[in-house]
Amino acid sequence: MAEVLVLVEHADGEPKKVTAELLTLARSLGEAAAVFLGAPGTYAKAKEYLAQYGAARVYVVESEDVVGYVGAPAAEVLAKLVADASPAAVLVAATADSREIAARVAAKTDSGLIWDAVALTPDLVATQGIFGGSTIVTSKVVKGVPVVVVRPNSTAPEAAPVTPSEQTVDIAISDAAKGAKIVDRVVEAKSGRPDLTEAQVVVSGGRGLGAAEHFTLVEKLADTLGAAVGASRAATDAGWYPHQNQVGQTGKTVSPQLYIAVGISGAIQHRAGMQTSKTIVAINKDPEAPIFEFADYGLVGDLFNVVPQLIEAIEKRRA
Ligand code: FAD
Repeated sequence: MAEVLVLVEHADGEPKKVTAELLTLARSLGEAAAVFLGAPGTYAKAKEYLAQYGAARVYVVESEDVVGYVGAPAAEVLAKLVADASPAAVLVAATADSREIAARVAAKTDSGLIWDAVALTPDLVATQGIFGGSTIVTSKVVKGVPVVVVRPNSTAPEAAPVTPSEQTVDIAISDAAKGAKIVDRVVEAKSGRPDLTEAQVVVSGGRGLGAAEHFTLVEKLADTLGAAVGASRAATDAGWYPHQNQVGQTGKTVSPQLYIAVGISGAIQHRAGMQTSKTIVAINKDPEAPIFEFADYGLVGDLFNVVPQLIEAIEKRRA
């Protein structure tokens, strides 16, 4: 059975949920092999998690060279593994960093790249959003080793404990790959809410909120549901909510089970970042708002009336 390489998403060695999803998906395609790239001493924190989710093999590179530079060193490692291990496919998560790595790996290995997949069959046919997410197509890579960028929340993670064989990858990162050095890292302020790209439920607010302070309404609804908070670009550009919470073409891509859009019109650039959400609920006072064309449930009304009632109804159900 051919290996399917999974690039491990982690924060300082702590794996993110999407890693379990990708390993689960990889197991449906072949033998799951995790690729862990991190600073010295970080693999120990990921080891058990990767074993728990069925990584039969783990390729490990612990070096400042793979974490201190933008994208290229990681791509160099993956390209080497593609050449040495001839995997059936390479899976990476649809995060900003990994998208860049995926594109570089595909270019280096002369392989086809599939973007924003939300499903992948055992014969590697992917379901993906294209044209900014406005159209869903099925695609298959016909050249090289398929490099597939998979949206978080596309696969339900299932544990399948194994004892992985570990292999340290012996690679000297080239000077060319060290062209862009990371000089500073700004850690996002901890909100206590789930990570936006990994959340099962996302509540996003837009220009319809009218002011920064009204985002407390969105946060309250989000907290009632254990959700992450997103925002449209109109809201982040206005300074009502941090840019790191922006959903859309130039923001983050989300694919939760439930996406609630509050006072968001549904512009194509916003849609690009959330269209593959399983269930979309829109709250908007304009019945002609474009978001109602692709929402599963639409609530036409003033958000300042609707959202408090929604919060109350959810809280009553919980009681
Ligand atoms: P609006 O379009 O102004 O919509 C506000 C909505 O709120 C309206 O539908 C209105 O009916 C409703 N509303 C108003 N008051 C109430 C009320 N009291 N109750 C209920 N509803 C109410 N946008 C993104 O979101 N993400 C991106 O990543 C992104 N990238 C972009 C990239 C490019 C290159 C460009 C050109 C644009 C991009 N945009 C992006 C911007 C996008 O085109 C829209 O301008 C933006 O999404 C609009 O945000 P909005 O829906 O909050 O605001």
